[in-house]
Order: sequence, then structure tokens, then C-alpha cells
Amino acid sequence: MHDVLVVGLGAMGSAAIYHLASRGARVIGVDALDPPHSLGSTHGRSRIIREAYFEHPSYVPLVRRAYENWSALEGESGETLYRRTGGLMVGPPQSALVRGTLDSVSTHGVDVETLSADEIVQRFPAFQPEPGMMGVYEQNAGMLFPEACVRAYLRLASAKGAEVLTQTRVLSLAREEGLITATTTAGVIKAKRIIVAAGAWTRDLFATLGVELPLTVERQTMHWLEPVAESDLLGPDRFPIAIFEYAPGRMFYVMPNLGDGVKAAIHYEGAFTSAESIDRAIGESDTTPVLELAKRFVPSAAGGIRESAVCTYTNTPDLDFIVDTVQGMPEVVLVSACSGHGFKFASAIGEAVSQLALGERVDADLSHFRGDRW
Ligand SMILES: Cc1cc2nc3c(=O)[nH]c(=O)nc-3n(C[C@H](O)[C@H](O)[C@H](O)COP(=O)(O)OP(=O)(O)OC[C@H]3O[C@@H](n4cnc5c(N)ncnc54)[C@H](O)[C@@H]3O)c2cc1C
Repeated sequence: MHDVLVVGLGAMGSAAIYHLASRGARVIGVDALDPPHSLGSTHGRSRIIREAYFEHPSYVPLVRRAYENWSALEGESGETLYRRTGGLMVGPPQSALVRGTLDSVSTHGVDVETLSADEIVQRFPAFQPEPGMMGVYEQNAGMLFPEACVRAYLRLASAKGAEVLTQTRVLSLAREEGLITATTTAGVIKAKRIIVAAGAWTRDLFATLGVELPLTVERQTMHWLEPVAESDLLGPDRFPIAIFEYAPGRMFYVMPNLGDGVKAAIHYEGAFTSAESIDRAIGESDTTPVLELAKRFVPSAAGGIRESAVCTYTNTPDLDFIVDTVQGMPEVVLVSACSGHGFKFASAIGEAVSQLALGERVDADLSHFRGDRW
């Protein structure tokens, strides 16, 4: 009998199984594929981490814990999982991005500098903010390497005694006599508790439990740009990760060139789809808007598109997370509805849901992520 079954071993599930195994729990994790893989939400070589969180101040304590846990994972695994680049949020002073960032700064005392458009250009010459825009610069922001993080968590979880089953799909879930029963392609697994971290497949899996979740799956694309000319202004020492609010409520982000080109993407604005029916082909309707925005804000990086990939966001109606037990089912923990901004938190959320599943006191404040808020 397992204490906890973790379904899905991407960002959230791999962190959860590691923290469960670290606490001595008898834990089994299953994944339909072989993570890290490129069919879910955790591929593409880099993810932004930042502390002055424009989305809501309640994320700040969680991301502070996440920084600590990523650093601990780096130490324990001996791998490089994070690159500090600094982070710049750019938009008009009244934009959701700038106002939201400054709101988190004043609530939690995050160390930032505000920059005028001219100061941005002087400091980071590759950027071309528009007149009337300003920037909020945070030194500690940077990039995580998601595939390496997942690999490190799974390797260390196995070393601590966790059972990891890949290429094993959970077909359905049931609650019987106080236990969770998962019917999988490799037989039946029983556990006292379950953490469902199935990303874009979460809604389908919960339907087998008779639970209807208000989640949508959004197609996203990410792109690596061909520079106009090779330049050290595009590297991580001169080019922080940056988000531009290019029109009210609409965001475009870039990450420095680590040898494969500046990475660029539009946040949201994708087609609604499902994990199974998603269009994985990249077309001009994906590349043209990104290249146009890159020409507008980082012109020297925008010589063309070198590479692209398709990915999924699993969104809640308000774009905040759900990290909670399911109403009326205290043994079922839902974790991976992270609305396209969850990776940076995985190390802290994995820890929090391990405590939740084991009935321990949860150190993190998860009140902003309750599942019964609708
Ligand atoms: C393009 C893009 C850019 C992003 N940028 C950022 C960023 O810069 N910063 C940030 O913090 N976040 C970012 N995010 C969001 C972040 O990457 C995701 O929130 C996070 O990776 C989701 O992880 P997950 O564990 O929920 O899902 P996944 O990693 O997709 O894991 C789900 C796993 O469940 C498995 N699974 C599904 N169904 C079953 C089943 N029935 N049985 C067994 N296994 C199953 C799948 O095979 C998969 O491995 C971005 C996302 C995308 C798509």
C-alpha cells in the first residue's frame, strides 16, 4: 500500500514526488510519457523566475520559498538549474504589468529599481521601449532550466526510494473504502492519498472521479530568434529577461541568448484546445506577430525565426492557480492548474502539496489558490 500516488511527473509532479520521498513517505509516481518530454507544459529549455510578481502580491512569499528550494535542489543534484539575468517589466506607468509589479514591491519590500525609457536604453542597449513606457528592474530574476529541474527531481526521488513508473497512463480514478484506486495501463494502483499533477490532461482525469473542473487548455507557441548580427548585447549579462505590456493587458516576453537565440513569446492570446487535439504545427500566424513585436522592442535580436515549439497552458477562470484538496475529497490533491505561470513555483508547490497530502501543517499560505473559489 502506498501512502501517496502522484499522477503526472512534469514540473509539479516531479517536485511533489521528490518532497514526499524526502519526508520518508511510501510514494509512487506514474506518467503516461517519459518526462521531461515535449508534449506537455514543461519543455522549451527555459522558464522565467521573478519575485516582484505583477499578477498578485500573494505569490511573493511562495516564490521566495521556491528560490530557496531551487537552490537546495542545485546543491543536492550538483546541476546548474538557474541562471540569474535580472528581470525588467516594461510598460506605461498605468499598465497592469507596471502597477502590479509595484504593488508586489510595496506589499513585500522587493528590491527593485524603476527606470525611465531612456535609462532602460542606456543600461540595456538591446531594448527599445516606446516613449511613455517605464521599467521596473529586479536583479534576482532569471531563468530556470525546466527539463534539467524535472530530471534532477525524478533522479533524486528514485534515489530516496520513490517508485517511478513512466509510459504508464492512468485511465481512471475511483475512491473506494477510503482509498484511491487508479486503473492504469500497467494495472491497478491503490494509495491512501493522490496528488494529481496531470497538466493539460487534468480535467479529463477528474471527470473519471465525477468532478467537473473549470479548466481550459490554451495553445501557446515559443520561438528562438535569429539575431540580426551576433552581439554580446543579447547575452545574459546585458539582456535581462523582460516582459513588455505592448497594448493594454497584452504581454510579450523575451529571454537572453544562451547560444540558441533570444527566446520570445506572447503570453496568452492562444487558441483554446485540448491536450489530445492541439495543433502542433507552427504556422505564419504563430511566427509573424512574435517577429513583429521583437522588431518593435528588441530589433537587433529579430533577424528571423530560428526555431519554434508548441506548448500548453492549463488555465483557471481567473488565471490564478488551484493548489488544494478537492471539496468533499480530502484525500485528493489538485496541483497543476497553473495558468501559464507555474513553473517557477514548482519547487515550493511540490513541497506544499507533499505536506498537504501527508496531513502535515502546510508552511506555505495557499489561501489564494483554493479550489472552491468559484
Ligand atoms: C510556452 C510556455 C511558457 C511558459 N513560461 C513560463 C515561465 O517563463 N515561467 C513560469 O513560471 N511558468 C511558465 N510556464 C508555465 C509552466 O511551464 C507550467 O505551469 C508548468 O510547467 C506546468 O507543469 P505541470 O506539472 O502542471 O504539467 P506538465 O509538466 O505538462 O506535466 C503533466 C504530466 O502529466 C502526465 N499525464 C497527463 N495525464 C496523465 C495520465 N492520465 N496518466 C499519467 N500521466 C499523465 C503528462 O505526460 C505530463 O508529463 C510556461 C508554459 C508554457 C507552455
